[in-house]
Amino acid sequence: MFYDTHAHLDQPTFADDLAEVLQRARSMGALDVNAIGVDAASSRAVVALAAAHPMVHAVVGVQPNDVAEAQPEDWDEIVRLASEPGVVGIGETGLDRYWDSTPFEQQQDYFDRHLRLSQATGLPFVVHMRECEADVLAMLREARERGPLVGVMHSYTGTAAGAAEAIELGLHVSFAGMVTYKKSDELREVAKTVPLDRLLVETDAPYLSPEPVRKIKRNEPGHVAHTARLLAEVRSEAFDAFAKQTTANAKRLFARR
Ligand SMILES: [Zn+2]
Repeated sequence: MFYDTHAHLDQPTFADDLAEVLQRARSMGALDVNAIGVDAASSRAVVALAAAHPMVHAVVGVQPNDVAEAQPEDWDEIVRLASEPGVVGIGETGLDRYWDSTPFEQQQDYFDRHLRLSQATGLPFVVHMRECEADVLAMLREARERGPLVGVMHSYTGTAAGAAEAIELGLHVSFAGMVTYKKSDELREVAKTVPLDRLLVETDAPYLSPEPVRKIKRNEPGHVAHTARLLAEVRSEAFDAFAKQTTANAKRLFARR
């Protein structure tokens, strides 16, 4: 049994057949899915999805690449949504130097707001990190000085040292389909270093389907089973024990409050 800790279920691509997608996820063993917001409207949408589908849990926030578009009242909306039923986390947040859509200082301002909201509510935060490992770690260290951190580095593609520091700071590390790709030897080496009790799995659906279903353009939560299988194999762990532990980790981290 699996917990897909990161999927964008409010995306238009799922609008027509989400019930079938979720049914298929259950038949593939994925019994829980976090639906992740990327802006105020999307966060409202994932809260509604969580209300409509018992297996779906909502994470609310403004993604770093969407920060430039955010209106001042949007942040108030995220803070309000954080206390809605079915909300299990804050995000996705983080920093991104790959896309140029939001000035970096603005991204840092919003990352800081999400970290503080997490610390105020006790809800875990979900970090998106692209080409800015040192910047993310610096802000996590700063936040850790204010108090304990609960959160996850999502769809992790950073270094082993970065993962180790994030874990030391209290975070979990989650891997998505990228770790299954032929060229991802380095990332698989990183995945071997993460302690099993801090490891999570996710699809990041509808993006980047894992092997061996990479050809399926629209990724979906059921595919988390493939990523879990590959990770267990790479780490030389029994598949059932791996699935059980990573799911227990996710349920502990995203325990509904
Ligand atoms: Zn995402």
